[in-house]
Amino acid sequence: MHGVVPGSSMKMKYRFARVLDSWMAATLVAAFAFHSLAHAQVLAASNATEPTDPKATEQWEPVPKLVTPGGTAGPPPSDAIVLFDGRNLDQWESSKDRSPARWSVRDGVMTVDRSTGNIQTKQLFRNYQLHLEWRIPEGITGEGQARGNSGLFLASTGPGDEGYEIQILDSWKNETYVNGQAASIYKQAAPLVNAMRPPGQWQTYDVIWTAPVFANDGVLKTPAYVTVVQNAVLVQNHTALAGETVYIGKPKYKPFAAAAIKLQAHGDPSPPISFRNIWARKLD
Ligand code: MG
Repeated sequence: MHGVVPGSSMKMKYRFARVLDSWMAATLVAAFAFHSLAHAQVLAASNATEPTDPKATEQWEPVPKLVTPGGTAGPPPSDAIVLFDGRNLDQWESSKDRSPARWSVRDGVMTVDRSTGNIQTKQLFRNYQLHLEWRIPEGITGEGQARGNSGLFLASTGPGDEGYEIQILDSWKNETYVNGQAASIYKQAAPLVNAMRPPGQWQTYDVIWTAPVFANDGVLKTPAYVTVVQNAVLVQNHTALAGETVYIGKPKYKPFAAAAIKLQAHGDPSPPISFRNIWARKLD
């Protein structure tokens, strides 16, 4: 009575389902193509010809906007592995020869001792959550990369500066290349914003580290990812890494299993920086 041929509504539903199916298939193909492209870019970044000038990997713009942080929190939760509680360096060793760490500990704070080099955790980690507090000394001198330079290596892969570095630097009114300022993945990714407090105040890093995964033959299966919150402000959001940090040239991956967490004793001549309240939670 409605002028509709019996069964036509069924046909329409069928046609609609076909359209929906092909739309979903197209979306899946597009998503797969995008994923492959992103993967190809990561691979391309690892394989391209090596530059020889450190300036070739400096990025200066856009400059992350300044955000004034709110409060600080971060006492260790009940299941945390406490790496430094202000008393001693029992959880740490020298990176170069694995002898006991010899940075100074005073008034609940550890301070970099450049003469003794980088230090790293005795424990090894794969995937983890980390809390760490750091302070640039009041009255810091120097400029650019020579002003409170240190670093948090999320996975140490050698006795020197090998590994994956989140930069530590005085980025309070101190211009440098943005992929080398505080909270950058050094020479790879600038922070989303500049969440620095002024020198003399404590800064916090809360980090979620997803280690890279390698096949048995050493080929990269999935890249490393890092999320970083500085002073309760998101500064790296599940950022994929192109490989290990390098000063000159393009990052590349080298297979590793579990690794120590390392703190950098950088050679910059400005007064040394301090750390306190460091803890981790394994996420494997
Ligand atoms: Mg550094």
